[in-house]
Amino acid sequence: MSNARDQIAGSETSIKRGLDFIYRVAITTDCFDSYGNLLICCFALVGATSRDPSLRQLARSRAKKLAQRWGRAHPSVPPDASSDLVLDFVLVRYALSRIGLRDLALNAQMRTAAKRFSAQDLLGFNPVSEPPANDLSYACDCGLKNQRGRTFCKQCRRRLEIQSRYRVWMRALASTYVSGRCGILLGARYLDVLKWLPTMRPFPVCAGENVEFLRDAIYAVTHIVYTLNDYGTYRLRPSWLPREFAFLKANVASACERKDPELLGELLDSLKAFGLRASHPLIMRGTGYLVAEQNEDGSWGDPDEENIRTRCHTTWTAIDGLRTYAWRGERLSRPEVKSMLKRWAK
Ligand SMILES: [Zn+2]
Repeated sequence: MSNARDQIAGSETSIKRGLDFIYRVAITTDCFDSYGNLLICCFALVGATSRDPSLRQLARSRAKKLAQRWGRAHPSVPPDASSDLVLDFVLVRYALSRIGLRDLALNAQMRTAAKRFSAQDLLGFNPVSEPPANDLSYACDCGLKNQRGRTFCKQCRRRLEIQSRYRVWMRALASTYVSGRCGILLGARYLDVLKWLPTMRPFPVCAGENVEFLRDAIYAVTHIVYTLNDYGTYRLRPSWLPREFAFLKANVASACERKDPELLGELLDSLKAFGLRASHPLIMRGTGYLVAEQNEDGSWGDPDEENIRTRCHTTWTAIDGLRTYAWRGERLSRPEVKSMLKRWAK
């Protein structure tokens, strides 16, 4: 590809092939039952924030079809809903609000359901009083979510894998932001989660021996971008988050070298949010990589990966990295954050 304009034209076909892949997988029963809510988010956000009108229309109509099916399976919030199910409802309601579909009765049910859980239940730590936890394990293979601090599963005695504090923080940023947008308090307020930003610096300089730790730190920073720009809606001024901007820029080349399309997709859309244009060398490099590395079936990532959620998520982030956004100006989703950012930028 010779220039940025050719690259954008080439990307359009890649994006639609990618969305076709996700939709083909999304409508299978297995995938829909376990991952349908996130795929509704994928289509709704592409439909809400893309500059290409035909892409917007295609994605919105798919989001609506998937949402109708999800709504038939989940007509109301059950009184004994688990915290995970409440979060599923929140994600779907946020996604649909982005394409103009609101349901106040369901929001009220979610508000009631969320009150049954503490911040610890919903986020794994209490952001009001402590920084993101560094002793929280992933759910065990047997299905049990163990208490903080445990290194072996209480139920099956397997060794547990501990989540990095960046990952715990990233999930809490997304959950509290999205629920706040639906008027629901999900354990804690978004600002209580964001306020730990200074303690999460400095970000790791290079992958070294622990690539996953670096990836988690990058995902945490991309989720600062997504929550502060309302998931692809606004551009952010680099001077609001100078260290985060530099950190994202510093990791594009290595994501290409490590063949990591999922991370690269998130790096590219975040850097575009900071104002990097299609002709910027980092955007051109990343875009060229993604267009060249798309699989035959339209997906990105390892085609032999058995986890269908991973396959869909990698494809989703690559699409987001490639597409062009209809930015609605330069601003923060929560304007009151500006003075905090200014303090933290020093
Ligand atoms: Zn277990």
